[in-house]
Amino acid sequence: MRSRSDGIGAPDASLPKGALFSCDQAGLAQLERLSGLGAWAYDPRAGAVLVSARVRDTLGLPDTTEATLEAVLARLVSPKARNLLRARLHNLRMAPVPGQGDETDLAAPLRFDTTIATPSGKLRRVRLRAELQPAPCARVVGTLEDVTHENRDRQRLWRAANIDELTGLMNARAFQNRLHQAVRSGETLALVLLDLDGLAQVGDRLGAAQADAVLREIAAGLSGLVGEDGLVARLAGDEFMLMREDPDPDTAAQSMATRAFAALAEPFRIAASAGFALDAAAGLATRPGDAPDAEGLMRALRDALSEAKRHGPARAAFLRGETRARFEARRDAIAFVQEAVQAGRLRAYYQPKVCFASGKIVAYEALARIMAQDGTISGPEQWGPALDDVDCARRIDAGILAAVLQDLSTDAARLGRVGVNFSEFSLRDPSFADCLLAEIARHRLSPDLIELEVIETVLVGERMGPLSQGFRTLRAAGMRIALDDFGTGFASLSHLRDLPIDRIKLDKSFVLGLDQDPRNAPILRAIIALAHALDLETVAEGVETEAAVAFLRALDCGEGQGFHFGPARPFSALPALD
Ligand code: C2E
Ligand code: CA
Ligand code: CA
Repeated sequence: MRSRSDGIGAPDASLPKGALFSCDQAGLAQLERLSGLGAWAYDPRAGAVLVSARVRDTLGLPDTTEATLEAVLARLVSPKARNLLRARLHNLRMAPVPGQGDETDLAAPLRFDTTIATPSGKLRRVRLRAELQPAPCARVVGTLEDVTHENRDRQRLWRAANIDELTGLMNARAFQNRLHQAVRSGETLALVLLDLDGLAQVGDRLGAAQADAVLREIAAGLSGLVGEDGLVARLAGDEFMLMREDPDPDTAAQSMATRAFAALAEPFRIAASAGFALDAAAGLATRPGDAPDAEGLMRALRDALSEAKRHGPARAAFLRGETRARFEARRDAIAFVQEAVQAGRLRAYYQPKVCFASGKIVAYEALARIMAQDGTISGPEQWGPALDDVDCARRIDAGILAAVLQDLSTDAARLGRVGVNFSEFSLRDPSFADCLLAEIARHRLSPDLIELEVIETVLVGERMGPLSQGFRTLRAAGMRIALDDFGTGFASLSHLRDLPIDRIKLDKSFVLGLDQDPRNAPILRAIIALAHALDLETVAEGVETEAAVAFLRALDCGEGQGFHFGPARPFSALPALD
């Protein structure tokens, strides 16, 4: 392409008179003054460029030389931008004589931002605007604005909003934006949600700076794994996301995870030599296979991750088949319970405990029920998985306690002693005992009306200390404590010795299976004998038949609970105790 500058009013002799710039240097200077922007003009037919002093200055074009189009284009850093601008201007040059042909397309205003490099090596961001002047001039006039500072500010803001400061990776917000965008454009995606374990210990022992250094190292290791068009983001503390578009997303996700674990091996090895056990697990998901939308994908990834963690270190898992169904059932149960609790449809139902010796109801167990919108009542059989959710279990426990205290306030004599179930999540709360006693006191009730039913499995493992302290506080206040489902968990017999327990509840599986398996009878016999020896009271659950009653009564079991004596009923349906 031929391009040249004509200087002020120095027409090219080869061009027809009047075809060159009637807009001369003085005109540009005037434009520049008015707009505060650099001004330039280009004659497409002559291929000639005219630039104002400010444009010269911004581009770093020497005053003395002619400004040729190529000299201007050479300043553009991006070859793509250079070609684009050249093509646009070339098109204009090849345009039919304005007014004589179709110039609508070519006359579309041009506006774009690009980066230029000055001869001294400085990078500047400039904004170019141009328009084709209407016939009969048929030239392009444009402005050039140095937006370096504006751009720097905007970049700073953009970085603050989108980049994780510590690692330089994309942050959660930016990732979500990118994911939504990918979903909108229907991309086939492979995703890996990577979770690290053990970093907190590094922070605790060596300080945050050291933990940050490890994180940076890990981030650097992960950065190279996803290819040019993939991305790595840091979603939270020690949670990373890898994503790429791939026609075979299953294989891509699997291979990203494998390579991620490999990339982590070295930092993990270094940490191990310093005495830290770092671990990683990965949840995998693909689009559209596992979910079509962003929310579904995130859910699938989180579920897959928790599934992967169950299988031990350095595991990656998809959430498919049976596992997926289990997670979905759990999610449905949680949603069902949350909605019901919110809407005040949680109910305490009471199942009688009958004294074998007297045949009378002496106590009740409060059992959680949910009333559906259509009035039907359901129990944990329908939504049991929600009891494994911290939030749901706590809400149920609190809701049932509130209902029990309310009913006791109404008529304590009708209920007698009430067994209340508390999940491990409630029991492990350090303020549990104090809060429970405060609630009871608020209702002006006596703690000895309540019996805490604690599942045996709660007693397994560490941190027994605070738990037994809480039990002692409650017991000192007069509350009774029963060990629930006894014989099925993994509690050690030493708990019977060391914990302040009043009663054991024989698990219903032994009683229900009395006539199916001859080994149930000696187990029940042994447990009841043990309880007697330790001076603990006994309640047998799952008493459904007269035969079970006779068997347990003969063993001198204290109380029985089961469908033989009646199911759980609402407070209003309970008979008065004699
Ligand atoms: P659990 O504490 O062992 O409660 C006894 C369960 O056995 C109840 O089931 C009861 O309906 C059932 N049952 C009673 N008699 C018989 C019988 O003769 N035969 C048979 N086959 N079953 C009988 P439910 O109400 O479905 O509760 C199941 C579990 O859900 C409870 O077992 C308890 O672990 C939990 N749960 C119930 N309410 C609460 C609560 O308010 N908080 C917490 N954290 N857990 C609760
Ligand atoms: Ca119970
Ligand atoms: Ca039980």
